[in-house]
Amino acid sequence: MTFKDFDLNPKILKAVAEQNYTTPTPIQQATIPIVLDGMDVMGCAQTGTGKTAAFALPILDRIYSQNEGSKKSKKIKSLVISPTRELAIQIEENFKQYSTYTQLKTSSVYGGVSIEQQIESLVKGVDVLIATPGRLLDLHKRDIINLDFVQILVLDEADMMLDLGFIDDIKKITRLCPQEKQTLFFSATMPPKIERLANELLSEPEKISVSKGTSAAKTISQELYRVAKPKKIELCLHLLRNNLAGNMIIFRRTKFGVDKLEETLLKNNFKVDTIHGDKTQTARTKALNKFKNNDVNILIATDVAARGIDIPDLDIVINFDIPNIPESYVHRIGRTGRAGKQGRALSFCAADEKIYINQIQQLLGKIIPIEENHPYPLDPNAKPEVHKKKGSKYKKGRKSVGSKAKKKRWY
Ligand code: AMP
Repeated sequence: MTFKDFDLNPKILKAVAEQNYTTPTPIQQATIPIVLDGMDVMGCAQTGTGKTAAFALPILDRIYSQNEGSKKSKKIKSLVISPTRELAIQIEENFKQYSTYTQLKTSSVYGGVSIEQQIESLVKGVDVLIATPGRLLDLHKRDIINLDFVQILVLDEADMMLDLGFIDDIKKITRLCPQEKQTLFFSATMPPKIERLANELLSEPEKISVSKGTSAAKTISQELYRVAKPKKIELCLHLLRNNLAGNMIIFRRTKFGVDKLEETLLKNNFKVDTIHGDKTQTARTKALNKFKNNDVNILIATDVAARGIDIPDLDIVINFDIPNIPESYVHRIGRTGRAGKQGRALSFCAADEKIYINQIQQLLGKIIPIEENHPYPLDPNAKPEVHKKKGSKYKKGRKSVGSKAKKKRWY
């Protein structure tokens, strides 16, 4: 199958060809015809599957086909809601690439930067608006944005919107758009609360799932390094010096952890930058651009800041800390192994993180192979070196592991 098999406008196909996409990805094969047909979609897909083009291409086609005769009618016809600014910027870039030959205008609005420039751009008129919820509602309150003409609403990364507490904003935005509209709802995972939200917002949706919401891409090789917490930094330096080549993101749980690791890696002459919530939008965009332009090959990030970011050439993901929410693991490693490329995901697991690994493996439905061949192996029976307080998380975790036999094992 090729993109020509879809009933897409030649101007859009030309832009797609310039991206060197030859074969539509599974989510694109499933989604594009449905969106062109005007139906609601409930899509379970991770980033990295080609999801953005799956909705952007048919949206542009639909808007363009109505608009060809009236190029000056710059009203918001499609609204895409994104949980983070980085993802909003990335979606905007994609829409701009795909609409190069159409004269359709795309713009994005998000918090953390001056509102004035965004107002200026909106006043000139846009066809497709990508927005984070807070800034959108702010601009709507100021009467800068009119959502009365929205025909296609996209809610991207719905599970993250929920995690970030945007649920009320989402419902409000949906109500501000006309009742008669097409809604496309995408989420990397589909737990019951997401399904309930989707059922509330969608009308007889077509359900699309390219891979099970919880399964990691097959092109990612996963490795587990058991290591004492204080030795993680040495393990990281050892691997960077000896085993790892290419572009990578190192995930840490906290902003403090990100800054601390950056300091150590800089001292050791690695080319590093960071992305976390305490950095200004300008600083985050600058870091991302440096990474994309290969000025640095290591990006250290927290989950929220990195979610949804598209870095096509990412070779490696390192989980310096194991995420305590199993779905975050899937999101993190989904940064690599994209669009069929081979990727590597390394996880550093200290004794007190075993419980999280257990939960992740349950979610994945598979065991992550252990890499024993490194200078800082941990005794498999090691006791956790933290959580010394009474009634600690670890105690709870141990209880849930179950039988004695299981307690001795890692999984
Ligand atoms: P996304 O899941 O939308 O973040 O896309 C992940 C990456 O795949 C992006 O870098 C896209 O440019 C790329 N991509 C999207 N569709 C295709 C395709 N059909 N063939 C090759 N790469 C693609």
